[in-house]
Amino acid sequence: MTAEAPGRRRQPRLFDALPGLAGRVPWMPLVEGPTPVERCEAIAPWLGRDDVWIKRDDRCSRVYGGNKVRRYEFVLADALERGAKTVVTAGGLASTQVMATALLGARVGLGVQAVLFDQPVTQFARRAMLADVTAGAELIHGGGYGPTALRTARARLTTPSSYLILPGAAEPLANLGYLDAMLELDEQVRAGQCPRPEAIVLPTGSSGTLAALALGAAWLGWSTEIVGVRITTSLACNRLTIGLIAAETRRFVRRLAPGFRPGPGRFRLLHGVIGPGYGHPTPEALEALPWVERLLRVPGEITYTAKALVGLRQLVHEPRYRGRPVLFWSTLSGVEPPIAEGARARLPREFLRYFEGPTVA
Ligand SMILES: *Cc1c(COP(=O)(O)O)cnc(C)c1O
Repeated sequence: MTAEAPGRRRQPRLFDALPGLAGRVPWMPLVEGPTPVERCEAIAPWLGRDDVWIKRDDRCSRVYGGNKVRRYEFVLADALERGAKTVVTAGGLASTQVMATALLGARVGLGVQAVLFDQPVTQFARRAMLADVTAGAELIHGGGYGPTALRTARARLTTPSSYLILPGAAEPLANLGYLDAMLELDEQVRAGQCPRPEAIVLPTGSSGTLAALALGAAWLGWSTEIVGVRITTSLACNRLTIGLIAAETRRFVRRLAPGFRPGPGRFRLLHGVIGPGYGHPTPEALEALPWVERLLRVPGEITYTAKALVGLRQLVHEPRYRGRPVLFWSTLSGVEPPIAEGARARLPREFLRYFEGPTVA
């Protein structure tokens, strides 16, 4: 395949592999070159193994890294193609999706409105809200899940030329980003940059990433098990929802590329890490937090990454993975977004309470 200088791609590998998609699926370059694969040396003593690998999607963009960028190459291109002027989305107070939307949306000329639901307040959450308004996003107070859903629908309906991105952005179009990512990893494996992993571990919420990686592994003919550390309620994140997302994504691709016929792939959820719920600290996650910071060199967060490392540490000691290559798929941004002086004054009044008193982490 084509050699790739770090920088903007001409088109995703997926369009080379499935030419039926090229020109018929919206896409714009946001990911800057293949993300490195490395050994997790910085956390080897804590993991108790020095042969665990990391796929550094934290470094996929200098604007904002992490899990949503590969999705947004397709989703934001779709928004622009449909003539949208504003993107409406929703997430928790500490939402990395909302930060990604605010920063990447601004970069491509889209306004952003985000409805935020309550979650335990951390330092990370406080900085996230300030970074969101610094990037120019309009934040709307959501509170509980019900009012958040209503206010998100209202923002979509009352904002002209708006485009809705649901929490997780797990729709088939967005999931193409992670089919493409598996082609990228396959190239890196074939170039000898890392062994073919027997397991890939990542935090899992709306499950689009897990479903697409599993589908991608099956497509490549890998027997790799994709292991999601569940970080949200099992009502939304379970084998059935993941199977449905994978089936929908496969159907979406097959409509344009009839030869695409992979099975659903091998996947599993680790249910025992989440604790009391989405964003709630657990003793294990609090203990893992400094190791997130050593590994990624950014302030850590609990909701996704600290819990993912807790799950990773469990998995690498399962007898079946002893001495076998395991890869951690990094999903947090390695870029800390800027916070303007006086950003707090730009928050709507209902948000000021989140800046009072101590945080849970
Ligand atoms: C969105 C996200 C994920 C993956 O979530 P899915 O919704 O399951 O695809 C993981 N980590 C971070 C930091 C995220 O923002």
